[in-house]
Amino acid sequence: MAMHTGRLVLTPQDPFFTLPTLDGITGCLRQIDFCGEQLDQRRFLLGERFLQLVSFMGCSPHIELEPTDDDRSFCHLQILPMDQPIFLQGRNTNPPRCGKCRRRIQGWERIMEEWQKQPQDYQATCPHCAHSQNPAHYQWRQTAGSGQLFLYVENIFPQEAQPSASLLNTLAEASGAPWHHFFIQD
Ligand SMILES: [Zn+2]
Repeated sequence: MAMHTGRLVLTPQDPFFTLPTLDGITGCLRQIDFCGEQLDQRRFLLGERFLQLVSFMGCSPHIELEPTDDDRSFCHLQILPMDQPIFLQGRNTNPPRCGKCRRRIQGWERIMEEWQKQPQDYQATCPHCAHSQNPAHYQWRQTAGSGQLFLYVENIFPQEAQPSASLLNTLAEASGAPWHHFFIQD
């Protein structure tokens, strides 16, 4: 099987932020034509203004916006609310940095497994400076992240595309919280 190209993940900056209903978000994303036709419960075709709302590197990106035989080979949107905060990682994930001393934290895989058991309360101690923090707030330089509500734009290579300020503002207004993004390759 071909390797997963990657996905652009959009999520509230606060990893514990969630919404009682997704109607506001989906309504706004449709209104600005970020997404179009609904494919199933969670998946949507991307809309006519997708290529204005996300900036691609290079002048003529090869973006397949229509369904193909292989779901992984076309760009589409998935909206994923979670029952509790989860950590998303991929083969592109790099070690995070301590929020205080900024040094890299090795052994993060085990730390995040422990965090998953008690996401709200878990505290990890930095091996370099002994600073204690909830690893949900680690900085991953856009190679991983934690959250409870995610938008996946499938089939985007890491750093290939950046959400525009206009898209991030729309998400912030629709949800009442600031958003950020990262990239995951399964
Ligand atoms: Zn530290």
